Amino acid sequence: MAFRKWRPREEAAGRPALEEKDLPPDYNPDRDDTLFWWTEDGYIIAHDQACQLEYVAACACAECGGTLAVIAQINRAWQGLNEVVAVCRRCRARYSFIFDISNAVYQAWWARQLGELYVPQYDGPPRTPYEPSG
Ligand SMILES: [Zn+2]
Repeated sequence: MAFRKWRPREEAAGRPALEEKDLPPDYNPDRDDTLFWWTEDGYIIAHDQACQLEYVAACACAECGGTLAVIAQINRAWQGLNEVVAVCRRCRARYSFIFDISNAVYQAWWARQLGELYVPQYDGPPRTPYEPSG
């Protein structure tokens, strides 16, 4: 699974890094090492929209090993969360992935993307990330 921070080929080759405007609009170049860590309450740390779909795409069905298809994204922004629901393409088993979007990395990226449309919807403190063990 490729969950490391994405480094543009140009940066790796010593050329100037791509600017944010050159990147996909759903990708946050400020992803850090806490991406996909868990919160104390068991949510998965997300840093942008794209990473949530990457996470689901990297998972296989626990029942049959099939690939998953995203069928819904449930807005729980007022809780600092986003829920992604997926089903197995083969056996139709259902999975729910709940991502933490209360963290500063996500919120700063979201504010930049939304511009004047950005309205903070979660007024609690950002959840603390915990490094997954093992
Ligand atoms: Zn399955």
